[in-house]
Amino acid sequence: FPEDLPSAARVTRTEQAGGTEVFSTVEVSLPEPGPGQVLVETAAAGVNFIETYQRSGVYPVEHPFVPGGEGTGTIIAAGEAVEGLEIGRRVTTSEAATGTYATHFLIDAAKAVPVPDEVTDQQAAALPLQGATAHYLINSTYRVAPGETVLTHAGAGGVGQILTQLLKAKGARVITTTSTAEKAEIAQAAGADYVLSYDTFADEVREITKGEGVSVVYDGVGRDTFTGSLESLGVRGTLVLFGGASGQVPPFDLQELNRRGGLFVTRPSLQWYLRNAEERAWRFSELFKALTSGDLTLNIGGSYPLAEAGRAHDDLENRRTTGKLLLVP
Ligand code: NDP
Repeated sequence: FPEDLPSAARVTRTEQAGGTEVFSTVEVSLPEPGPGQVLVETAAAGVNFIETYQRSGVYPVEHPFVPGGEGTGTIIAAGEAVEGLEIGRRVTTSEAATGTYATHFLIDAAKAVPVPDEVTDQQAAALPLQGATAHYLINSTYRVAPGETVLTHAGAGGVGQILTQLLKAKGARVITTTSTAEKAEIAQAAGADYVLSYDTFADEVREITKGEGVSVVYDGVGRDTFTGSLESLGVRGTLVLFGGASGQVPPFDLQELNRRGGLFVTRPSLQWYLRNAEERAWRFSELFKALTSGDLTLNIGGSYPLAEAGRAHDDLENRRTTGKLLLVP
């Protein structure tokens, strides 16, 4: 354990479930890496929708709770039995990181992803959760083929912009939705071929596809779009429900899938798509390749001081953001 380490870390944590006022930023002792773990000094931590569910109590957690499922920084200490990663190495997180709303965080070395030199800290911090999600959605949950027409919601959002760019790189035709004209421009800049409004998208998708419907819908909005997403699908189409930014989808009659053409519905999450080292390496090497080739540009919509995590949540929940939000210590 190196001797020149700081004596304390700062964390932004929730003291109880509730609104954004439940956050406070406090000093804690520097965490010590256990066997197989590394201690990372945070350059930037990503903000994700799931942390708003944890803060508000939609997903119950034990308080005080330090949110944060992704972060990028430099390894400053390593526990026993860490192989292949050394102090000074820049890493980002894959799945299952916790507590990255902090100046320092621990991660299992096996789940730390070394950052190539040509990728900046900001890019690396903006990539992992949303990038890996977009990657598994279009390559593994439903494998999109060149020329296929796809509907994906919230095209100016974090996952939305990455999805669109990776879909375009595959040669797909992308239809998306946004809530404002400004966001529509951002979705278009990411490559969307059609940007529709939430009120009329299902009818417009039918028109665009000459009545056929699309073969797949990627829906992270949930409650408000679910029915329209089903209506947008062609026979044997697949609805990939990957989130609930507008709320969770209520219980649902499976016969509905039969009536609408033998549809498929799945509710995936990242942990089921990063099941081993090979899968992790495959997804991240393709994502880093897309970043360096220019197929993928990460749009940082907001960078907030660590102590202002509440403001980041407020902006995210109230649809004021586009692209990726970062917290910087
Ligand atoms: P976004 O940046 O996409 O933000 C959410 C967007 O959803 C908003 O900006 C807004 O865009 C749209 N939206 C539509 N209706 C509402 C509403 N009622 N309230 C708030 N937002 C609404 O967030 P992320 O990219 O971080 O995440 C997108 C989704 O992906 C989330 O549901 C998240 O939980 C999910 N996710 C799922 C993963 C998985 O593996 N299953 C992993 C990572 C994320 P607009 O104003 O244009 O409508």
